[in-house]
Amino acid sequence: MVIDMIKSAHHPSELMAMLKIKFSGKVPHDHKEGLEVLANKLNQRDFCYAALNKVSRSFAVVIQQLPRELKDPVCVFYLVLRGLDSVEDDMTYPAEKRMPLLRNFHEKCFEKGWKLNGVGDSDDYRTLLANFDKVIHLFLQLDESYQFVIADICKQMGNGMADYAERKVNTLEDYDHYCHYVAGLVGIGLSALFSASGLEINRLQQETDLANSMGLLLQKTNISRDYYEDLNLGRVFWPKQIWGKYATQLEEFHNKPSSPESLACINEMVTNALQHVSNCILYLHLIKNPQVFRFCAIPQVMAMATLAKIYNNPNVYTEVVKIRKGIAAKMMIDTTNMDRVRFYMEKFVREIQNKMSESDPNYALTRKRLNRIIEALDDVLFSPENFQERTIEETVLF
Ligand code: MG
Repeated sequence: MVIDMIKSAHHPSELMAMLKIKFSGKVPHDHKEGLEVLANKLNQRDFCYAALNKVSRSFAVVIQQLPRELKDPVCVFYLVLRGLDSVEDDMTYPAEKRMPLLRNFHEKCFEKGWKLNGVGDSDDYRTLLANFDKVIHLFLQLDESYQFVIADICKQMGNGMADYAERKVNTLEDYDHYCHYVAGLVGIGLSALFSASGLEINRLQQETDLANSMGLLLQKTNISRDYYEDLNLGRVFWPKQIWGKYATQLEEFHNKPSSPESLACINEMVTNALQHVSNCILYLHLIKNPQVFRFCAIPQVMAMATLAKIYNNPNVYTEVVKIRKGIAAKMMIDTTNMDRVRFYMEKFVREIQNKMSESDPNYALTRKRLNRIIEALDDVLFSPENFQERTIEETVLF
């Protein structure tokens, strides 16, 4: 925290935001003990929240924004998928066991007491799987409509992961497919959970293209940002159809981070992600509940901030570039309605525009996609037919 505050020292509003979040009571308790110790001390439900906090601090924070009704279903949903992902990522777990487990992991959710020892590529992931009976316990307490959604998404994702374990992400189509399995399905599942809760309209779960875009924007942002980390881990998620235009080996970007080819490549990765932003804006427009809105909107705004930061940025090739925690804290507090989403989206669109150069091979496409974002914001905020869809009360909320 202290280091983050120093980084934001010249931005007083960021300092205020960090302090506000720290003392808001909205930040989940950060247990000092390791997850394994906690597993022996906590009841099933508390273990699930402690596990969530350990494996994804940022998700644990945004989950606190949700209405009470949705917290447990979304927490379990996340942990089930995290468990599945831990199986996918542990390359030391033999493929002849890993593949069938990926495909039938969804059935384990209904097996009281099921757990798996010694699998996972980090201590926390191994502990999560070794205590998976606790996640299943909470899963089985959920309303059946939630159980159905979680198991169905887990089944689709597990099959997609198993398919992609045997092939690489080469084309743009592969890239979209892979991101659909690992992230788009999360968006689709969350929509179904929101609709099942009755807090959001039924139509939301039918808008699967929009929900898919919500996941794809986040996933593609992470993949674009994490070049260096993934390179070190020997993983490749960048589609060859993009990077192959600028290099013959992925490592070349690391060796020549500021070359025109390297910059053109990261810019094309960002431009690819930008195609999903307008759909995300339309999705956010459909959300009625203010707490659900924040839960959905905050990660999208953060993704857009990250895209603006990594565009034309050679540091992507030599380190993991992150947005300042102070900016993140400010957006977390501030992203409460569509007007604020517009404010941030426009700010990051301008940041990218200011870094664009006509010599970039994707200049025209990037410009087109940025313009589409502004149009989508205008559509949802200013076009009268969209306003007519809302009741007066909702207009006030937005
Ligand atoms: Mg994985």
